[in-house]
Amino acid sequence: MTSWQGMNITVAGLGVSGISAARALAGLGASVTVVDGGDSETHQAKAAELADAGIAVRLGDASTLPPGTDLVVTSPGWKPTSPLFAAAAEAGVDVVGDVEIAWRLRGIPGGSSAPWLAITGTNGKTTTTQMLASMLTAAGLRTAAVGNIGTPIIDVVLGDEEYDVLAVELSSYQLHWAPSLRAHSAAVLNLAPDHLDWHGSMEAYAADKGRIYEGNQVACVYNVADKATEDLVREADVEEGCRAIGFTLSAPGPSELGVVDGILVDRAFVPDRQKQAQELAEVGDVNPPALHNIANALAAAALARAYGVEPAAVRDGLRAFRPDAHRIAHVADVAGVAYVDDSKATNTHAAEASLAAYESIVWIAGGLAKGATFDELVQRSAKRLRGAVLIGADRALIREALARHAPEVPVVDLDRTDTGAMSAAVQEAARLAGPGDTVLMAPACASMDMFVNYNKRGEAFAQAVSELGSASA
Ligand code: ADP
Repeated sequence: MTSWQGMNITVAGLGVSGISAARALAGLGASVTVVDGGDSETHQAKAAELADAGIAVRLGDASTLPPGTDLVVTSPGWKPTSPLFAAAAEAGVDVVGDVEIAWRLRGIPGGSSAPWLAITGTNGKTTTTQMLASMLTAAGLRTAAVGNIGTPIIDVVLGDEEYDVLAVELSSYQLHWAPSLRAHSAAVLNLAPDHLDWHGSMEAYAADKGRIYEGNQVACVYNVADKATEDLVREADVEEGCRAIGFTLSAPGPSELGVVDGILVDRAFVPDRQKQAQELAEVGDVNPPALHNIANALAAAALARAYGVEPAAVRDGLRAFRPDAHRIAHVADVAGVAYVDDSKATNTHAAEASLAAYESIVWIAGGLAKGATFDELVQRSAKRLRGAVLIGADRALIREALARHAPEVPVVDLDRTDTGAMSAAVQEAARLAGPGDTVLMAPACASMDMFVNYNKRGEAFAQAVSELGSASA
């Protein structure tokens, strides 16, 4: 077990997770220095607060390693190529993330030792983790959805609240920096190119995701339709007796969960998987019942069942679940046109899932592409597109893909990246749409070129739609 007393720890980044790590580790007797490249008034105010807790903060220099550092704790978003980590490698000092720290803290007195049911994937992580937490709650277990969502995971592990089991969403960044994590069971929902600028290559990204299966005790849950996830299970080193469990939107084979005649069924956690199938819930219990979301529900159900949750609690958990905002949220109908906010579709894989859920679409897209290409997305979705309105820094990439694969689709290219562009985009979309169509804002890109985050982008969309409603009333 790690002894924190007297350890010299450098925390990279003065954000939410960095501050949580710094406070927790200082509380355990470590000598902590937080470093951040910024030096604004906000930074200084945060530094002053930490100084009161005996934590040193070095602002304006994020590159050099404070002398005497024993361990570096990084924050999400810091690239592995950051000079600070190169300096740590040079000095033979380990770099870990908040999840690794939380995992190591499980063992200490006062640290929650609840097992972790872990979830990763390119898309659907938050939804699936919350569905899982809802199922566990319905089973009467004390749990929370944590990790890449909600309260920082270190605070959860060290907090006063008691848990039986945790539903843990993990990003590829967090997995990259969590070498000793060993979950009870884990799922990789899907794998599509994303964040390649951070990881360097698809192989590196997949390898980081695959770490979630290392040391699993009961089940490695994979997506039957996404062979890459199954490959990761095969490569993982797991505990003796741990099973590979697939989920599929088709009829399940043995050791799989799937769908038969509108019913979610389990052929994995039953006494005789060759002959038996256990009904879990109806497709209509999944909210919203889009195909990708049924897949999320099956993955959550597989983890819940691996933990011993009864079928009725899986169903009740699904019924009680409400998706977070900006995930295929129906905003309003105006003049017979539905307006849908999927601002959380920040990559092409997510956008493809939501484009597949509607028949005739005016698509609002664009933003920061993060190294993605759009040809496949446009090819697969072309027949559903009635029009497209493009915004944001990398819109030319989408425009060119549309010109190549869907030249007949009318495109409005809004040459602006200011916040007000959303209002113009919605007006243009309204012009292109007819009764029965859906205006879908599923940008396939990150939002930070125009908005603080995807929430703000979604709010701007909803605001623009409401102005449209009042203008036409
Ligand atoms: P994450 O936490 O991985 O970003 P979310 O649950 O927040 O995932 O969903 C993000 C977006 O990804 C949704 O708005 C939807 O467009 C899309 N999505 C959700 N689940 C899936 C899935 N299983 N496959 C593909 N896309 C999905």
